[in-house]
Amino acid sequence: MKYNPATENRLQELLIKVKEARDSFLGYPVSKDFDYSELYDFLQYPINNLGDPFENSTYKVQTHELEREVVDFFAKLFRANPKDYWGYVTNGGSESNLYGLYIAREMYPKAMVYYSESTHYSVKKNIHLLNIPSIVIRSQENGEIDYTDLEETLKFNRHKPAIILTTYGTTMKEAKDDVSKVKNILKRLAIQDHYIHCDGALAGSFGAFVEPKIPFDFIDGADSIAISGHKFIGSPIPAGVIITKRSLRDRVSKGISYIGSLDTTITGSRNGHSPLFLWYAIQKMGIDGLKARYLSSLEVAQYCKQELLKIGINAWTNPGAITVVLPKMPESIKNKWQLATEDSVTHIICMPNVTKKQIDEFIEDVVAVLETEPIQEEFSYY
Ligand SMILES: *Cc1c(COP(=O)(O)O)cnc(C)c1O
Repeated sequence: MKYNPATENRLQELLIKVKEARDSFLGYPVSKDFDYSELYDFLQYPINNLGDPFENSTYKVQTHELEREVVDFFAKLFRANPKDYWGYVTNGGSESNLYGLYIAREMYPKAMVYYSESTHYSVKKNIHLLNIPSIVIRSQENGEIDYTDLEETLKFNRHKPAIILTTYGTTMKEAKDDVSKVKNILKRLAIQDHYIHCDGALAGSFGAFVEPKIPFDFIDGADSIAISGHKFIGSPIPAGVIITKRSLRDRVSKGISYIGSLDTTITGSRNGHSPLFLWYAIQKMGIDGLKARYLSSLEVAQYCKQELLKIGINAWTNPGAITVVLPKMPESIKNKWQLATEDSVTHIICMPNVTKKQIDEFIEDVVAVLETEPIQEEFSYY
């Protein structure tokens, strides 16, 4: 290959930019504390996990065995029936949500989907792609679905099968919809044909450790659960996991002789490196490490909230959340710390790499700016 020094400069510049950007964000749910250097040798191979991870396939440059172990790990964490679960490693939470909705629609082609105002934008697009009729349900002030509005709306449509999209950790406020409350509503209205998909992109990974527990898993009534792999666990490549029931997957499976496997996944060729990263991360952490990771994030979030309250900022958190919600910050703070902002609120997500020292630096910046620019006051309190 012809070597061009300008190319190297471009790469160096980009590397510096990426590193700088990584070091100063508090507003996005992405872990940055991973070290996968032991796996770099695997980047030399065209690993492709095409086909179903639980079936044999003709293409052998794959990591299906580790992918199955990743699925086993989360299925257990989500209390799936050991005799009836299935899943795969996706390209992210959005694809995992698409899969959940896809299975739901195959099961109930005449269903209506119900999701709250606080639902992630990927869900609306997925519903559009799948062409399923849908109704938006109001959210409560804290971001949780409004159960009264859900019940009223379901009542009007009780002749139709219902697909309920619950969120375990909304994007802005990390609110968690209670699956058992949803299940009780369906029971009261005698809607037997129903499917519950739980979007746990960020918080699903630590949901098993939240106390008091907020119902979201298979025993609580979910039929499928989606998580993102690059959020709480952390990965250099976006990744996700979908866990559902094997009996449901069987409804969408078709044998494909060219790959010698079942075409059960959304994409054909699939990233074989991300299952490897996720597998490595969960091997290193184990259940106890994952729990400790959550507890330390929770502690930093509580610290962040208290420090903000001390300087007169009305910060709050949903129960068990690692996301601190606060009023919209002035532009300079928003840009420096890359704070996502929606309506009158912004948030700091205390991902495992966020330290109390970083929170102190943030607080110092806020104090300095507050002396010159007052904050917006249309903020709603929780
Ligand atoms: C991030 C997020 C998603 C999308 O996940 P990706 O991995 O970015 O595709 C879906 N739902 C919620 C609640 C999220 O926070």
